Amino acid sequence: MRIGIGYDVHPLIAGRPLILGGLEIPFGKGLDGHSDADVITHAVIDAVLGAAGEGDIGHHFGVSDPRYQGVRSLRLLEETWRRVKAKGFRIGNLDATVVAEAPHLAPHLRAMAANLAQILDSETARINIKPTTAKGLGPLGAGEGIACLAVVLLVEAGDEGR
Ligand code: MG
Repeated sequence: MRIGIGYDVHPLIAGRPLILGGLEIPFGKGLDGHSDADVITHAVIDAVLGAAGEGDIGHHFGVSDPRYQGVRSLRLLEETWRRVKAKGFRIGNLDATVVAEAPHLAPHLRAMAANLAQILDSETARINIKPTTAKGLGPLGAGEGIACLAVVLLVEAGDEGR
């Protein structure tokens, strides 16, 4: 078994769509960044890469690389998973905490988990995404951005620990 952790944060700005877990969520603002700035998917990519001993997202998908300008982050997760799967790993489970004062994410969690599960060749039941807030503290608490912390357990293929 291999465990990995990932963390990401992006600022919220006007005039961008809000993409979380590959899902576009209706909201007045969106996350700013080089790609679609999907913090959940970015944290998951870092956790997967960390568990596999494959460095981090910046190493594989550099911000200076024009190929990744405006790219859908689910596509980056797909590339990441292709590499990690080839090393013989499967998802044991994935747990992520999203810190967002707004919008209310609960209605979207299942669809986000399904998006991630599909790319990671996993059952949705192995993917857990839970929202929380910063209780008004600091920049996250002021709604200036959204952060995500993800933990992934990888297991050798054929040993999914059912
Ligand atoms: Mg990011």
